[in-house]
Amino acid sequence: MSMPAVADFARDFPILARPVRGRRLAYLDNGATTHKPEAVIEAESRFYRESNANIHRGVHWLSQHATDLYEQARERVRGLLGAARADEIVFTRGTTEAINLVAYSWGRANLRPGDEIVLTGMEHHSNIVPWQLVAGQAGATIRVVPLTDSGELRLDAYEALLGPRTRLVAVVHVSNALGTVNPVARMIELAHAVGARVLVDGAQAVAHQPVDVQALGCDFYAFSGHKLYGPTGIGALYARSELLEAMPPWQGGGDMIRTVAFEGSTWAEPPQRFEAGTPNIAGAIGLAAAIDYVAAIGLQRIADHEHRLLEHATAAVERIPGLRLIGTAPEKAGILSFVVDGIHPHDLGTILDAEGVAIRAGHHCAMPVMTRFGIPGTARASFALYNDERDVEALVAGIGKAQQMFGRRPHR
Ligand code: PMP
Repeated sequence: MSMPAVADFARDFPILARPVRGRRLAYLDNGATTHKPEAVIEAESRFYRESNANIHRGVHWLSQHATDLYEQARERVRGLLGAARADEIVFTRGTTEAINLVAYSWGRANLRPGDEIVLTGMEHHSNIVPWQLVAGQAGATIRVVPLTDSGELRLDAYEALLGPRTRLVAVVHVSNALGTVNPVARMIELAHAVGARVLVDGAQAVAHQPVDVQALGCDFYAFSGHKLYGPTGIGALYARSELLEAMPPWQGGGDMIRTVAFEGSTWAEPPQRFEAGTPNIAGAIGLAAAIDYVAAIGLQRIADHEHRLLEHATAAVERIPGLRLIGTAPEKAGILSFVVDGIHPHDLGTILDAEGVAIRAGHHCAMPVMTRFGIPGTARASFALYNDERDVEALVAGIGKAQQMFGRRPHR
C-alpha cells in the first residue's frame, strides 16, 4: 500500500475538523504554533492516566516508570537532532528558555569586557534580548550581520565582522519573519575558524527539514516542541558535552545538585545540572510522541510537501496587484510574509479571520526586520504538513476580498 499524501495526515489533527466562524479552517499560523495530532494528545493524557509520578530519586514503581519515559523522551530528542549523546540534551520550556540558559550560564561565565557577540538582523527577540542583558553585565558588544533586500544575510559582512574578539555567533536557522533558510553550516565553519562558539535558533527549522547538529557542527541548538506538533511548555537545548560539563548552573533548586550544605553546594552532572525543579514531564512525553509522528511521515517528505506548497502560494500571491512579498531569498522555508498597499496587516488579518483563514499580522517578534524594510509589520502565512492548495486558495480569495473592502483593488 502506498503512503498517503502528506496533507492527508490532516485527518490526524482533531482541531482541523472544527469549523471556525462557520467556515473550513485554513490554519496558516504554524510559525506561531502548530496543531497537535491525536497521537500527541493521547500520549500526554495517557501519561496522566497511567504513569503520572514525579521523576528521579523515586523509590516506588510509578516514579521509576515516569523517569524511564522522561529519559526515553530525551533519547528521542537526541535522535531528532542527530546528537551523539542523550546527556547533551537539556529539556527547557522552549527556544526562549534554551537561549536564556546559554546566555546566563555559558555567557556569564565566558564573556569579558571587549568581547563581541555576533547576531544577525533577522533574529527573533528571544535571540537578541538575552544577549543584550548578558552583554550589558559583561561589558561585551553586540555586532549585527546586515540583510540584503531579498532578506538574506550578507555573508561578506558576516566574514568581516568575525575576528579575535568574537566569542559567540547566535543565528537563526530559519527566519520566522522572512522564511529565509540561512547557510548555518558555512557560518559555523567561519565562526569556528576564529575560535567563536555558535548557537543556532532552530525554532522554525526542526519541523520543516531534517536537522543534524553533528553535521552542522554547531555548539548549541535550541527549539520548541509546540512548533513541532508537540505540547507547549517543552523544548530543548542541545549543547556539546565538553561545553555543558564546564557550564555553571543558571537556576538553582531540586534535582540540579549533588550535595547541599549551608557552607556550599555541589552540582549534578549535565543535563540534570540545568533542569532545576520538577520539569514538564508530560510535555516531554508528548514531545517524544510528536517526534515519532513526524519521523513516521518523514521530515524530508514534509519538507518537500511544504516547499511545493510555498512555490504554489508564492506564484499565486505574486499575481495579486499591490501585494509585496517581504523575504524573497532563493532558500526559503514555508513562510510567506507580505504587505498589501493601503491595508494595514492587522486589518488584513481580521478580514481573513472572518473568512476562516488564520494568519499572523505584526512584527513577529522581529522588530529589527521590520525596521530594515521600513514597514510596521507584515501579514504572515506559514505552512505545516497538513496544509494544502485549498488553504492557499482561501488566503488568496480573502486578500482579494480585503482589497475590495478597502477599495484597493487596482484596475489592471
Ligand atoms: N525563535 C524563532 C525563530 C521563533 O520563531 C520563535 C517563536 N516565534 C522563537 C524563537 C521563540 O520560541 P518560543 O516562544 O517557543 O520560546
